[in-house]
Amino acid sequence: FAIHSKDMAEQQLVSFDDIGGQEMAKGELCEALDFIKDVDRIKTLGIRPLKGILLNGPPGTGKTLLAKAAAHFTGSAFLAASGSEFIEMYVGVGARRVRQLFNQARTLAKRSNKQSAVIFIDEIEVLGGKRGQNAGHMEYDQTLNELLVQMDGISDKDDIRILVIGATNRIDILDPALLRPGRFDRHVKVDLPDKKGRIKILELHTRNKPLAQDVSLEDVANDTFGFSGAHLESVVNEAAILAFRENAAALTAEHLRSAVEKVIMGEKLDRIPSK
Ligand code: ATP
Repeated sequence: FAIHSKDMAEQQLVSFDDIGGQEMAKGELCEALDFIKDVDRIKTLGIRPLKGILLNGPPGTGKTLLAKAAAHFTGSAFLAASGSEFIEMYVGVGARRVRQLFNQARTLAKRSNKQSAVIFIDEIEVLGGKRGQNAGHMEYDQTLNELLVQMDGISDKDDIRILVIGATNRIDILDPALLRPGRFDRHVKVDLPDKKGRIKILELHTRNKPLAQDVSLEDVANDTFGFSGAHLESVVNEAAILAFRENAAALTAEHLRSAVEKVIMGEKLDRIPSK
């Protein structure tokens, strides 16, 4: 069962400043994370520990980045997994993987001298869909039950505090048991970026690239309504490839325009006006 070791190594590199736009999401997330940071006062006031935060929004909008930044912000170890990794044909395997994930998070935190760990589970709807709806598929139910058991087991007396961050684009199909107080009771909406957000994301991704005089990132942002952060990253990368092919010294406005078209064609994004 491969935990994304790449993610563990990289998490130190992601801070909230590396995430463009998403001001609301960052604000709400930070507010929730204060509970993890100020654990002594939380205990004194008898507030029950925050165990789960759900990031809800379309693909490529920075949910994984936000989870990594949350780990960095709270000085926590970081472990990532995807809902689909837990689903196996054999009953019991998924549940065992959930247990392993929690144990690994504790071990990782101890080994790196951290007092807390963030477990990120992408596509959580795959394992946290409504129980009993996967006809005849006991495995889903057992896996979800084990996740609930593990989350219920998190206590403020633990030497390593665990925070589970789940990501989904389908909050509507999640089992209500997951959303109950004491589980994923904080929800943070992560939307497609608005124009200001798109400019910020483009600035971040062009940081280390030479731009020609004629480039206006605001123009690119105007042309990319409906794009996610991941699409914008692609645009910049495609533009750099075009510049490379033409032996150009810098990315020009024309490279960026062609790259926008290419990403629209590639993704067949019908919600994006193809002007
Ligand atoms: P998925 O739901 O498909 O897993 P996600 O919401 O977790 O997607 P990320 O994996 O965080 O999205 O983003 C993918 C890539 O897109 C990032 O590595 C980054 O390059 C770029 N990206 C997305 N959103 C942003 C953002 N707000 N700021 C900067 N880069 C972004």
